[in-house]
Amino acid sequence: MAIQEVSPVSIVDEIDQFLVGQISFPAVNYFLNRKNILGRYRKLLASERYSKEALRELQFQKLQATLRHVFVRNPYYAMRFKEIGLVPEDVRSLEDFRHVPPLGRQDVINHRLEMVDIRYRNSVVSADRASQQPGLPVLFGKFRRHKLVRNTSTGSTGTPTVFYDDGATTALNWAHELRLKSWFGLPPGVKEARMTGISTLYPPKSMRRSIRKAFWNQMVLPGIFLSDCDYEFSLQNIYDFRPRVLWGYTPALTGLARYMQRVNKDIAPCHPELVISWAAPLYEHEKKLLTEVFGCPVTNLYGSREVGHVAMLCPHGSMHVNQENYIVELEGAGAGEPKTGPGNILVTQLNESPMPFLRYRIGDLAEIAQDDCSCGRSLGVLKSVLGRIGDVLKTKDGRLTEPAFWCHAFMVGRQSQDVEKFQVVYRPNNKILFRVIPRASFSAQTEADLRSLMEKHFQSSIQFDFEYVSEIKPQPSGKCPIVVNEIAQKEETVGELQSR
Ligand SMILES: [Zn+2]
Repeated sequence: MAIQEVSPVSIVDEIDQFLVGQISFPAVNYFLNRKNILGRYRKLLASERYSKEALRELQFQKLQATLRHVFVRNPYYAMRFKEIGLVPEDVRSLEDFRHVPPLGRQDVINHRLEMVDIRYRNSVVSADRASQQPGLPVLFGKFRRHKLVRNTSTGSTGTPTVFYDDGATTALNWAHELRLKSWFGLPPGVKEARMTGISTLYPPKSMRRSIRKAFWNQMVLPGIFLSDCDYEFSLQNIYDFRPRVLWGYTPALTGLARYMQRVNKDIAPCHPELVISWAAPLYEHEKKLLTEVFGCPVTNLYGSREVGHVAMLCPHGSMHVNQENYIVELEGAGAGEPKTGPGNILVTQLNESPMPFLRYRIGDLAEIAQDDCSCGRSLGVLKSVLGRIGDVLKTKDGRLTEPAFWCHAFMVGRQSQDVEKFQVVYRPNNKILFRVIPRASFSAQTEADLRSLMEKHFQSSIQFDFEYVSEIKPQPSGKCPIVVNEIAQKEETVGELQSR
C-alpha cells in the first residue's frame, strides 16, 4: 500500500482547526440540543485505557441508571419487565441483564410510541408532522418544548423503522467520531469531506451547507445514487477544499475511487490523512482499493441509525466496541459464559435517550474476540462482523458462508483481475446466481475456476448459474448490495438454502 507523505499543516490551518474544533463546532451543536460533545470526547479518551474490570463496572452503573429510568419513563419496557416479573433492582450484574428479552425490529415498528419517554409524548406528534426531512435537527432544540427529531432506518426487507432522537445520540456519535480521529492523530476541527447526501436532492447552493463548511469545517457531498457527474463534482470540490478526512458511505467512497482509477485521476495535490467508511461493511478488496487510491489509512464505523456508532476500527485493525456507551452481546448466551459467536448481535444503549434501545437485534451476525488488541486499548473487540443476517448463507450441513467469502472469491483471489463487479443472488430451490460484469480478460476458464472453487467450498447440490451483464442495477433503496436474498424468510433469520 502506498501511504503518501503528509504535507505539514500551516499555522493558519491550525488556528482554524482550533477555533472550529474547540468553539464553533460544539457551540452550534449546543443550539441543536447536542450537548457536551467535547466533554464526552475527553472522557472517552481517558476511559479507553481503563482496566477491563473498571470498564465493566462503568457499564454496570450506567445500565442500572438506564433500567431505573426506562422502568418509570418508558411504558413499553415497564410492560415487558412486568411480564417476566423483573424490577430494575433484580439486575445485580451484567449477566443478570440477559434475562431481559431481546428487542426485534418488528417490536419497534409495533410499539414505537410506547418506547418513547412519557415526557416527550407531545413532541412525537410535532416530530411526525414536521415538514423537514427525517433526521434533520431542530434549530434551537435545546430551548424548545418540542425537540424530538423523527428518523427512519430501512431494514433489509424494506419496512422502515421509525425512531426519535432529541440530539443525545447524535452528540454521542460526534464524540465517538472525534475519538476515532484521535486514534489516527487528528484533533477536533480538522477539515472533512462527507459523502452522505442523496444526489438528486443535493442543492447546488445551500445556506445550510455553507454554514456547515464555515463553522464545522465539514463539506457535505452527494453519497447516494451517484453518477460519473457526481463523482467529478465531488472530486473537484475535494481538490478545492483539501480535507484531511474523507468520510462517506462505503459504496460512495469505493465508487469515487473506482471513478478516479477509470479516468486516471490522482488525489494529489490534496492529501487526505484518513478515510472513514460508514453504513456498510468494508470488505478486504474495498479497503485495499481505498488505501491505494487515497494513499492514507482507512477505517470503518459500525452501528446503525437507531443506536449510533457502536464500534470503530482502530489503526491495529481491531473493531473496538464503544464500551462506555454500549453493551454488545451475542444472542443465545446461556447462564454461564457469554457466547462469543457466531451469533445475532444485541446492542444496548447506555446513554440517555428519549427512545432507548435495549438488547436490540441490530440485524448482523458477528463473533466476539477473546484476545486483547495490540493497540493497548482495553475496549472489547468484535472479531468479525459476518454481515447482515439475511446476507449470511446457511447450508444444509449448518455451515455459515458470509459475504466476505464471495468478495474473496471474486475480488481478491486469482479471478479478481477478470471481474469488474459482481453480485450474488440467493434463490429458492437450492440455486445461487452470480451476476458478473466481466473484464476483457474474463474467459471460460475463469468461470470454470470459480465453479470449482464453489464446489470445493460447498460440497453439496447447489446449482450455480452465471449471468454476464454490463451493469448491476441498484435496488429501489439506491443500494447496490453484494448479496441479494430472494429466499422467502423472516428478517431475523439467516439465508438458508432449501431442498428442491
Ligand atoms: Zn486496537
